[in-house]
Amino acid sequence: MTEIPFFPPDLFEGDRAELLRLLRQIGTGPSQRFILGEQTALLERELAEQLGAADVVACSSGTTALTMVLAALEVGPGDEVVVPAFGCAPLAAGVVQVGARPVFADIDPWTMVADPAAMERRITGRTKALMPAHLFSVMADMPAFQALAERHGLRLVEDSAVAQGGVLAGRPAGLWGEAGVYSFVQVKTFGMPGEGGVVVTRDAEIGRTVRMLRNHGQDGRVRFRHHRIGWNSRFDELQAAFQRHRLPGLPARLERRARIAAYYTERFTPLAGRGVQPPPPGTEGRCYYVYTVLAERRGALAAHLRAHGIASHAYYPQILPRQEAFAPYVQAGDSWPAADRAAERALSIPVYPHLTDRQVEYIADVVCDFAVS
Ligand SMILES: *Cc1c(COP(=O)(O)O)cnc(C)c1O
Repeated sequence: MTEIPFFPPDLFEGDRAELLRLLRQIGTGPSQRFILGEQTALLERELAEQLGAADVVACSSGTTALTMVLAALEVGPGDEVVVPAFGCAPLAAGVVQVGARPVFADIDPWTMVADPAAMERRITGRTKALMPAHLFSVMADMPAFQALAERHGLRLVEDSAVAQGGVLAGRPAGLWGEAGVYSFVQVKTFGMPGEGGVVVTRDAEIGRTVRMLRNHGQDGRVRFRHHRIGWNSRFDELQAAFQRHRLPGLPARLERRARIAAYYTERFTPLAGRGVQPPPPGTEGRCYYVYTVLAERRGALAAHLRAHGIASHAYYPQILPRQEAFAPYVQAGDSWPAADRAAERALSIPVYPHLTDRQVEYIADVVCDFAVS
């Protein structure tokens, strides 16, 4: 059996010729336009049409996309934003970067995403926004978050960076909040060979503001007139052209991921009493950018997989409020028991679309062998 990496080195193999063709076309094109040109505009329009979004704005990363959404919603000094305690750094860093304070809420112990009841307990008179995230391929309970935001008069931002393609109750991930984001960094489901992402929104006004913010607060009509202090978060034409080439194949790749995940869950469900807990089955509100189990003996499972040539990955070994960077924003006495448990147990295994059926069966066999040994 050959080695099965966690991040496949041949992700863009099938598109290499097109990537090189586009590099030449854009690199030698008469307009010499490398950022925010026609290709970027077309990608934005195609995504907006596909989603039924009011606007899609391409940005230089998912992180800046998220930060600019907060800025567009006027989140700033004196405000609090409730975020999940378990997740990636941009969730809390973006809040700090607009001058507000992240408040960390505990998660659902099984799905590992933001728990509406836990978030509600963290709402104070200073709370400006709620920012649940879809993680570990499960969408957060957005109808509950929408109701919660309405009840308390709060803004709702959706960190849908890894949920592109997920649909909950007929509505795509990213369009439940006032605005959401997708990340296009290599490891995400619509990853590309470089940095990038988009803001997706059902609010045209937010779209307009983010368009300004991504290019130093200029409105796109008059150059060197700055309406707001913005960012440099512009998008590459080459990447836009490549993403447009890859977009039609995305549904099939997502479908393949979902089928692999469904197979894993079927195989692993009997292991739940043996220290390996798969995610809840189903396709509603799912988008399998990773496949993550909760393992009582995570280190031993990772070692067992490694011994059988299978790479795995622990996202995220330390929860956000226990990171040195975010310690100043934590209130004494706060605790996040479900997040801590998840950080000790979550282990992700390969789920990318070009795994062969044989590889998928082999990975499942190796996990099952571990649980019964
Ligand atoms: C990847 C990711 C981001 C940030 O996206 P980048 O493009 O890497 O900046 C934000 N939130 C979540 C949940 C992510 O997984």
